Amino acid sequence: MKIGFIGLGNMGAPMAANLAAAGHEVLGFDTAAPVPDGVTAVNSAADVADKADVVITMLPNGKILRMVAEQIIPAMQQGAVLCDCSTVDVDSARAVAQQATAAGLGSLDAPVSGGIGGAQGGTLTFMVGGSDADFATVQPLFDIMGQKAVHCGDVGSGQSAKICNNMILGVTMIATCEAFALADQLGLDRQKMFDVVSTSSGYSWSMNAYCPAPGVGPKSPADNDYTPGFAAELMLKDLNLSQDAASSSGADTPMGALARELYRTFVEDEGGRGRDFSAMLPRFTEKNRK
Ligand code: NAD
Repeated sequence: MKIGFIGLGNMGAPMAANLAAAGHEVLGFDTAAPVPDGVTAVNSAADVADKADVVITMLPNGKILRMVAEQIIPAMQQGAVLCDCSTVDVDSARAVAQQATAAGLGSLDAPVSGGIGGAQGGTLTFMVGGSDADFATVQPLFDIMGQKAVHCGDVGSGQSAKICNNMILGVTMIATCEAFALADQLGLDRQKMFDVVSTSSGYSWSMNAYCPAPGVGPKSPADNDYTPGFAAELMLKDLNLSQDAASSSGADTPMGALARELYRTFVEDEGGRGRDFSAMLPRFTEKNRK
């Protein structure tokens, strides 16, 4: 299969490299980042699109996705599939899918979970919206880049699943960090706290797989001075998406709203920009010291 890949940043580069390593011909384009080993560089997004059976995009946000879609959809071959793996708002996902369908193309929204480690290791989870036929076309590529692809429903449902998942992630990370900071105040050893919670009813991915306390649990960005991993501002982006979706659909999401507010303050006023989203732990401990 001939694959076009647009957006070769932290996530896109290793995903494209894994497709190339599996023997696919991959053409890549990014406005800033270099193409990874095994991927052929081309000069524009349209040049990626006109030769590909599947075009994968891995871009920062919905606005950029819409702009790139304008460039590539007219260039793509009839019957080719546009598969967006970025995390974007549901409205952008649906608008791009509509445009692709009108041009005789297939389209999927297929955001991912698993972070840079999952992208490098080919262990991402894909949550996918679109038709059965388009899902079947791209599934062999999901199997290379990830360990699981869930077909969630029609276009937009992949993004819906992603923002619900990440709302839970934002809330559980904050809960885990504030509990560690409370444990500190109570004089409880952090390792003991991890040993108890990671095997008790307070366990979560935030505690067990991405522990925010340095030197405790598996290796995580906390052990690298909170260099992201998953930047606090990307978590804020996702919490904004879930709150926007909650407003437009009439859902009551008070915990999501509070998580958004805490990450907004952290990123905008408390030095959180450019730090991993688990750096909420030192944010709480500093507050408790005051
Ligand atoms: P990134 O900023 O490292 O990569 C985005 C790339 O897109 C950059 O290299 C940028 O130069 C390129 N780009 C921007 N505009 C472009 C254009 N018009 N044409 C071509 N290329 C363009 O971001 P990332 O961490 O790779 O994240 C990408 C997406 O994946 C985001 O939507 C993010 O929310 C999502 N995501 C990230 C993670 C993570 O852990 N980093 C996890 C899951 C999902």
